[in-house]
Amino acid sequence: MSVRLRFAPSPTGYVHIGGLRTALYNYLYAKKEKGQYILRVEDTDQTRLVEGAVEGMIKAMSWAGVMHEEGPMLEDDKIVEIGEYGPYVQSDRLEIYKKHSEELIEKGHAYYCFCSKERMENVREAQKAEGKTAKYDGHCRHLSKEEVEAKLAAGESHVVRLKLPENRVIEFDDLIKGHIAVNTNDMDDQVLMKADGFPTYHLAVVVDDHYMKISHVVRGDEWLISTPKHIYTYEAFGWEVPQFVHLPVILSQSKKKLSKREGDVSVEDFRKKGYLPEALINFIALVGWSPEDGEEIMSIDELIEKFSFDRVSKSSGVFDVDKLNWMNNHY
Ligand code: GLU
Ligand code: ZN
Repeated sequence: MSVRLRFAPSPTGYVHIGGLRTALYNYLYAKKEKGQYILRVEDTDQTRLVEGAVEGMIKAMSWAGVMHEEGPMLEDDKIVEIGEYGPYVQSDRLEIYKKHSEELIEKGHAYYCFCSKERMENVREAQKAEGKTAKYDGHCRHLSKEEVEAKLAAGESHVVRLKLPENRVIEFDDLIKGHIAVNTNDMDDQVLMKADGFPTYHLAVVVDDHYMKISHVVRGDEWLISTPKHIYTYEAFGWEVPQFVHLPVILSQSKKKLSKREGDVSVEDFRKKGYLPEALINFIALVGWSPEDGEEIMSIDELIEKFSFDRVSKSSGVFDVDKLNWMNNHY
């Protein structure tokens, strides 16, 4: 399998410095292995879209020198898509997701759920009162084909859910987190298609990573708990599962989640302040990774040469602005 990695941001605002690091690690590994690095826009949550965010993202990544070779690009300020596995913008792929959710339903790995918001709310309240973790109770798993058809014909609002088997252990080896095993009894029947006809991230990410031939899924570790669901989905389709690499988060100097409140967090902020892209890249590469030889000042080519996932730290990296300033003065 050839090496193909992707950065898959949601266009909800500026590129966060944590996103830049995720993109950079994907880029460095792809280049090191003489593979491809692609950009995919994950805009399935239509409520969170920000106008101009895709353009801003492409500009920021291009300024930083972490440029993709497939996906949406800017030509005369217009977005064009380059690459044979597109479209790379998820809202342009709705037909593909619909077809695949139907395939899962046919194969018995997914089902229509017509539960109302109130019903779901009541189920959750009852579970909470019993001290259980809230989870869908499987109510619609047992609807007959006729019941489903009647409800669909009547135009009842519905979602599609993943039908997890009972009591099965889903296992995988993450390159950073190690061996992970989760029992399906502790998992929820994930919504795959929403009532608005859009897929959720969970369906779209699996379908796209498969068709875009992604070999390594490298992303923030907030997605680690979702990965067993994704693996089950790959298996339900009969697809090969990629290698997963979940990166620890970046913390602020006060060891909190890096947020706007504590200073600059977007690539755009640093660009406007006059930081050199080479310094920012060098700095961010070292937040949670270090080369074997302990070198601190490296060009992008040196980073490519030295990069490996086994030297990514298992604990959170800390964003040290003094170090960034020191580096910036070094260039
Ligand atoms: N769209 C997701 C995000 O912005 C990407 C998760 C992934 O890389 O799979 O966090
Ligand atoms: Zn239901």
